[in-house]
Amino acid sequence: MTTEPLPQNAAPTRPHAIPSYLDSTHLGPWAIYLEQVERVTPYLGKLSYWVETLKRPKRILIVDVPIHLDNGTVAHFEGYRVQHNTSRGPAKGGVRYHQDVTLSEVMALSAWMTVKNAAVNLPYGGGKGGIRIDPRGYSQGELERLTRRYTTEIGLVIGPEKDIPAPDVNTNPQVMAWMMDTYSMNTGKTSTGVVTGKPVSLGGSLGRSDATGRGVFVTGAEAMKKLGMPLEGARVAVQGFGNVGNAAARIFHDAGARIVAIQDVTGTIASEAGIDPYTALEHLKTTGRIVDLPGSETLTQDEFWDVTSEVLIPAALENQLTADNAGRIRARVVVEGANGPTTPAADDILRERGVTVVPDVLANAGGVTVSYFEWVQDFSSFFWTEAEINARLERLMREAFASLWEVSQRHGVTLRTAAFIVACTRVLEARQLRGLYP
Ligand code: GLU
Repeated sequence: MTTEPLPQNAAPTRPHAIPSYLDSTHLGPWAIYLEQVERVTPYLGKLSYWVETLKRPKRILIVDVPIHLDNGTVAHFEGYRVQHNTSRGPAKGGVRYHQDVTLSEVMALSAWMTVKNAAVNLPYGGGKGGIRIDPRGYSQGELERLTRRYTTEIGLVIGPEKDIPAPDVNTNPQVMAWMMDTYSMNTGKTSTGVVTGKPVSLGGSLGRSDATGRGVFVTGAEAMKKLGMPLEGARVAVQGFGNVGNAAARIFHDAGARIVAIQDVTGTIASEAGIDPYTALEHLKTTGRIVDLPGSETLTQDEFWDVTSEVLIPAALENQLTADNAGRIRARVVVEGANGPTTPAADDILRERGVTVVPDVLANAGGVTVSYFEWVQDFSSFFWTEAEINARLERLMREAFASLWEVSQRHGVTLRTAAFIVACTRVLEARQLRGLYP
């Protein structure tokens, strides 16, 4: 036990120099994250001494990913792995394949993982990775070579006890299988715990694929309960029909809610009578697009925001609810399946209009929660049943919701600020207790 006094909430003696890669006015999602940290700082008390820790990632790796294309040429892609914080445990977070991936985006996503993991009290820090590529234009073989080369390049920093990747936008269990195999080949032993979201036959967890959507449902339903809104017949609009939006739509539908609109990259459909998400998924698989589903009408992309619903689930990408459209939202509850879909300016507008936002760092934490279960199962080589996984997930999400709701009521703040208060306090407490090395 140290006898030294703990640091007081004093101003740093020297201003913090801003690292060159942060010194830009066009930082996109990272600027949004910094604004969220600014908002929480007054609530951190003496721990705000350490707040600068949250404002810069611990470690950033930018890698070149060259691959042979099927046409015999070589293509180079830009890859990233960012470890935002490891105060509470190894870095943890997904890998995204998308043409718009930037360093600023991956930095923000890694920071949101730090906050998310701490908000629901998983023993992890935060990390994220990405490759700047539109995977739709590439064959399975090309994607496998891309994944294997990327995994080798980031092999310097990942590992079951260091940094554990997982699926995110446009990556899936097959990609995780390639990552696990590549890491294992490079280290000379099969190491299932290096990634989560693997196929069940390779050490993956039952319940992982629907886990994020299930968490969206559980936290959304808890919010509705607090607001006295019935689930039966509630109208739900979903943006994004990938792993998260699709599962959330199915689970809300199964619970008696009505899916009145779906938007994805291929189009927007609506039906006041309700869309069956199972049929919609079949239709998308066979026709390649969501529009022209029998019984639905086609809307323009922008008209999606005018659909009347009780619950709105942005489950696509960042920056969807902005100052430009937040005033049009008619839902009473927004449940963020995506990471970073709402800008701080939109948060303010929604709050003024009495819309409850269940923030990403809580609402979509179901995925990483079951990733944690998977990692624990891999370490112990003992696997749980799907019923056990779902019950544990639901209990953890309900308890996290209840404690963040209580904090938001006590301080009179939004659920997002409450989640940041709880999470940043946990991260900075760990930071303070560990102390600065050397
Ligand atoms: N990509 C997911 C997220 O944003 C899951 C991360 C994980 O399971 O590590 O939370």
